[in-house]
Amino acid sequence: MMIQQNKGNEMLDSWLSRLGRGVLFVLSGPSGAGKGTLCRNLLQQQAGLQLSVSATTRQPRTGEQDGIHYHFLQHEDFVRQIEAQAFLEYAQVYDHYYGTPRTHVVEALQAGRDVLLEIDIQGALQVKASYPEAALIFVAPPSLEELSRRIYTRGTDSPEVIRKRLALASSELTYIDRYDYCVVNDDVEKATARLQAILHAEKCRIHRQSFRLLNEEECSP
Ligand code: 5GP
Repeated sequence: MMIQQNKGNEMLDSWLSRLGRGVLFVLSGPSGAGKGTLCRNLLQQQAGLQLSVSATTRQPRTGEQDGIHYHFLQHEDFVRQIEAQAFLEYAQVYDHYYGTPRTHVVEALQAGRDVLLEIDIQGALQVKASYPEAALIFVAPPSLEELSRRIYTRGTDSPEVIRKRLALASSELTYIDRYDYCVVNDDVEKATARLQAILHAEKCRIHRQSFRLLNEEECSP
């Protein structure tokens, strides 16, 4: 078989530059869509997947530990880190700053480990702009009525915060088409299974798989 080779080197270079890299998965969606539970399920069921711990300027909630749930920073420390370009992305969400520490994610991907980010939509779009290979997954509620019921019944927020969350949710839903995948969380078990299917499919995409073939590794869905 004759295959034209003149663009081959460029393409091969670009494939080779991804040698051994892990996959960056970005999960976002409105508050109350159930991202937290789905992330926990995925991390339990998906060996080798690691969660990136974000930095934030908000106060820890009861039971949250520094370095485990978030890196809790003072506002001025967060700003210093922005200036030092220490974040892969950052955004202001509900009056506080949140950001993904760059070094940890880059080192993990380069070492071939898959990384999961649970971040807001502004952050997800920043990640996609700087790293188009990231797989963006939108977790949607079955309906706005159901979302509002979930936010009210979890009882952790004041009426003012609930009003803000619902207003933001409506505008966030308009960004679905900027994502690679949408998973409707109508049932936690089913939504987890759909996410796992996406993770497996992404890892078997041809451009990611090429290095595995070169390295004689197995693509194991
Ligand atoms: P919470 O304060 O309830 O833990 O999170 C509020 C929102 O901030 C959620 O939508 C969550 O996904 C988002 N968030 C958490 N960490 C990050 C981050 O590192 N970057 C961005 N852009 N958003 C984040």
